[in-house]
Amino acid sequence: MSRAPSVSNPAHLKAFFEAQLPDALDLLRQMVGINSFTLNPEGVNRLARFTAESFAPLGFSAEMIPSANPRFGQHLVLTRRGRGAKSIALVSHLDTVFPPEEEARNNFCWLIEGDLAFGPGTHDIKGGTVMMWLVLKALQAHAPEVFESITWKLFLNSSEEMYSPDFGALCRERMDKNTLAALVFEAEGRLGKEHLMVVARKGRATWRVTVSGRGTHAGGKHPHGANAAVQLGLLLPRIAALTDYSRDLTVNVATVNSGTVLNRVPHEAVAEGEFRAFTSEAYNHCKQTLLALTGPGDVFSPTDGFRCTVKVEILTESRPWPRNTDTDKLGEIWKQAGHETGYPTNIQERGGLSDGNMIWDAVPTLDGLGPWGDNDHCSERSADGSKLPEFVEISNFVPKATANTIGILKLATDRVSLI
Ligand SMILES: [Zn+2]
Repeated sequence: MSRAPSVSNPAHLKAFFEAQLPDALDLLRQMVGINSFTLNPEGVNRLARFTAESFAPLGFSAEMIPSANPRFGQHLVLTRRGRGAKSIALVSHLDTVFPPEEEARNNFCWLIEGDLAFGPGTHDIKGGTVMMWLVLKALQAHAPEVFESITWKLFLNSSEEMYSPDFGALCRERMDKNTLAALVFEAEGRLGKEHLMVVARKGRATWRVTVSGRGTHAGGKHPHGANAAVQLGLLLPRIAALTDYSRDLTVNVATVNSGTVLNRVPHEAVAEGEFRAFTSEAYNHCKQTLLALTGPGDVFSPTDGFRCTVKVEILTESRPWPRNTDTDKLGEIWKQAGHETGYPTNIQERGGLSDGNMIWDAVPTLDGLGPWGDNDHCSERSADGSKLPEFVEISNFVPKATANTIGILKLATDRVSLI
């Protein structure tokens, strides 16, 4: 009886992945060919069914769970029950930020040029889902006892690119008690020769400031007015000044709207924006300071003292994922796996959100397991090459899948070193 080649030799894994790469790229091509813009639920559901079919030969059963928001497609949970008590969760998402009309307008579709595969979702995050598939195939072929012993749960969010807190609740509810880790397959970072795993992400809140003034005829009754636009204009620099780079706290004033016609003192003015921070302290400080702006304003009518009023609302919130020891331990395992496989690996804290923000305090979470790419969320290509759309680097799949597989084996077997 022939034994599976030893996993202790990364060269065997690399050879396996080299052989799988054409199938992996074909899988990615098909996934990219299905438009799965967050607000295209039919497309998202189609991709969910295709993904379920793609993982079925590995022994995964599928469950589709409706989103809390009826405008979104269904979340996908794929499960393969193991013989042992331990479980590992792998997290990705189905949706992209590209509407079908935009893909058509920019002729943005699957295209291989040299070492780069362009297309909607290649980098964020269909390349990551294909990475999951590669790693699970390798575990099945090269470490069958580990593959069979672990309960694998794959969670794919239908609406990661928009606000979907119900997916976080779904993961927390469905993840087994003995879940060793939640591994998120968003793309890795890169700094020089180092590949960067994500160990912290900023929290983000969106906000709206509404100023109510008193409208009046700008000619005949000017003093009767309480100008909401002027009041809002006084507030915005104060809000922007909450940014504190020394605390990694950023506040963005994004949209400002006021007034209707020019012969009228505006009765209402509205601004919206967001803020982000890594630590709960900075995040909560900013939130409380913003909310405290609610109340009477500074601008009033000289006629009778009628004063503008200010209302501040927090529209959505994704809590910060701060540095923590559980995540740092996973980061160490991946650094070591990278070291042993000739794939220099380090860690980073990232400003953008992922599903990791919603689960890091339920189970140890590491992010950045996906392949490297760039220009995510961009669909345009300019003739002079100064604008390039989203792509993933093809030659990254084999070494990254090798490092991920060794990392997962270390995690699953508690072995410090496989060499
Ligand atoms: Zn993503």
